[in-house]
Amino acid sequence: MNYTELKEIVRHIKKMVPCSNCNRKFNNDTIHVLSSYNHEALFHFNCSHCHNQLIVHVTVSDTGDDKSKLSIHAKNTHSISQNDVLDMHNFLNGFKGDFRKLFSPENH
Ligand SMILES: [Zn+2]
Repeated sequence: MNYTELKEIVRHIKKMVPCSNCNRKFNNDTIHVLSSYNHEALFHFNCSHCHNQLIVHVTVSDTGDDKSKLSIHAKNTHSISQNDVLDMHNFLNGFKGDFRKLFSPENH
């Protein structure tokens, strides 16, 4: 996934996903790309108003008519610290697997 695609996705998520706590929109300064691999990307959202944190997983699928469909899964990570985010970032740097597996209920 290239930078332009990521930017496009972030723009989309900002519209689609408000803060799960205070319902405000996220702004660019508080959105970080944790990892992207093929057609999937993982973002960390940090609400500037209430400091609620979300991990957002996006899958881009080709619908065949020159349009891409985004599947967005947001997970509340209210209790994680900045260190946890860094740990996750480090983990994902070496991660070349299946995000769906990572996010599947069996792992929790
Ligand atoms: Zn908030």
